[in-house]
Amino acid sequence: MTVSDDCDECRKIRLELRDAWMDAWLSADKEFRSAWLGLFGGTEEDAQRAEDLLPKANIEPKLAERVREAIMMKFRHETQTGHKIPLRRNIT
Ligand SMILES: [Zn+2]
Repeated sequence: MTVSDDCDECRKIRLELRDAWMDAWLSADKEFRSAWLGLFGGTEEDAQRAEDLLPKANIEPKLAERVREAIMMKFRHETQTGHKIPLRRNIT
């Protein structure tokens, strides 16, 4: 897989991931934050664990849903194109 910065779709998804993540992060509780940080290696397995964690976190359902959709969008695009969209481990 190659990192593709010149792909419009990659750029769009990366921005959406960042925004969705930021909103969810700011409303998340402390336990969720530390659990999340520990699992975000950027692999599909990590994303699956993130999806399992989201419903348990004390964040607004619509924020969690947005993150989930952004992650799904990322993997769908990567699968279709072979592009690699990096996930950010830290948001600060
Ligand atoms: Zn792309």
